[in-house]
Amino acid sequence: MSRFACHHCGASVVPPQPVCDRCDGFPIYQASAVALTNGIAQEPSVAGPPVVEGASLGEGDTPLLKLGAQTGPRHVKLEATNPTGSFKDRGSAALGSAAVAYDTDIEALVVASTGNTAASVAAYAARTELPCTVIVPAGAGSVKVAQAGAHGLELLGIDGTFSDCFALARTVAGDPGVLNATAVYSANPYVASANRVIAFELMAELATPPDWVTVPVGAGPLLGGIQAGFAELAAAGLIPETPRFCAVQARGCHPIVRAIQADEPVRSWKQPITTEVSAIADPLRGYAADGERTRQAVLASDGTAVALDDSRIAAARTRLAREHGLTVEPASAAAMGAIQATPEIAASDHVVSILTGHGLKHHTRMSPDVDVDPDPGRIRRGLLARSE
Ligand SMILES: *Cc1c(COP(=O)(O)O)cnc(C)c1O
Ligand SMILES: [Zn+2]
Repeated sequence: MSRFACHHCGASVVPPQPVCDRCDGFPIYQASAVALTNGIAQEPSVAGPPVVEGASLGEGDTPLLKLGAQTGPRHVKLEATNPTGSFKDRGSAALGSAAVAYDTDIEALVVASTGNTAASVAAYAARTELPCTVIVPAGAGSVKVAQAGAHGLELLGIDGTFSDCFALARTVAGDPGVLNATAVYSANPYVASANRVIAFELMAELATPPDWVTVPVGAGPLLGGIQAGFAELAAAGLIPETPRFCAVQARGCHPIVRAIQADEPVRSWKQPITTEVSAIADPLRGYAADGERTRQAVLASDGTAVALDDSRIAAARTRLAREHGLTVEPASAAAMGAIQATPEIAASDHVVSILTGHGLKHHTRMSPDVDVDPDPGRIRRGLLARSE
């Protein structure tokens, strides 16, 4: 029997089927009531699809850090501490577990990625010894692609966007000889349900739900998963109310934010992609419905959305590094940059921002000049000046 049911109509869904037959809704893993209660109290991971040791690299259970702030409480969830440096490991571990330990037909992985999914799935494919091919846009996220390649899988670069990679992966997945669940990573029941655990981890540490959760969004299974987790906790009477969600995208490709602001269904992004923040630059060409599911999750939370210029995202990244000691990639910094750019978020509100990926994955010089001068007196004077 499937442990997955449609989040919208409740019908049972058998993975790796990505959406509900009846209403196109999003399947979510059904944890038992006992697991839910325990999930908050002691072991948040029981709220997600089971992960077996042979498919785990130690993902999840990431730190929640409080930032010193004059205003309302600000927390950041450090997803960069996952084994390959992004939250994508949560989904990879659940998917790998389904492939090796449960009664599914998953025999191989074909993945479309702009970077972090490639790096993550590649590592978990190595761990589980599943054959794996990763399709990336040529020239995308070179550090992440190198990270993926290190695990010895087949890596294909194609001349196109993430959507083109996704279409190719789906074609391969359509071959019944190789049933593959990850080609639909962005709407994969294991993946979104694994992301749901983040809500339980947050409530294991916080006394009350935050007012807001800010999330960088590509197609949005991260946001959708966390929102579903909170909704389930509220439905079970375990929290008084759910937080509002703020979806953040880069202005150079923001199909979901555009739709939320215009109050209309999500359409794919037809304009050129003019942002460097590749981890969230998903034009949704051919699968706008994935983005629409994300919009529905934002609406269900009484949430909002904001698109940020690359310069504003870069400034947020610099601030995180200089004021808080956090090295994150640009997409993650967008979650912080969103706070000030969103009028609905009050200064006194309690905000949790999901910092999705590690800064080492993105090479930009964060400090401008390195001066070669070995004079000890000058070093002392410099330290003194900065201690004032
Ligand atoms: C994948 C990714 C996102 C977006 O997540 P989705 O679930 O695809 O919307 C955000 N930040 C980083 C660093 C990512 O790798
Ligand atoms: Zn349904």
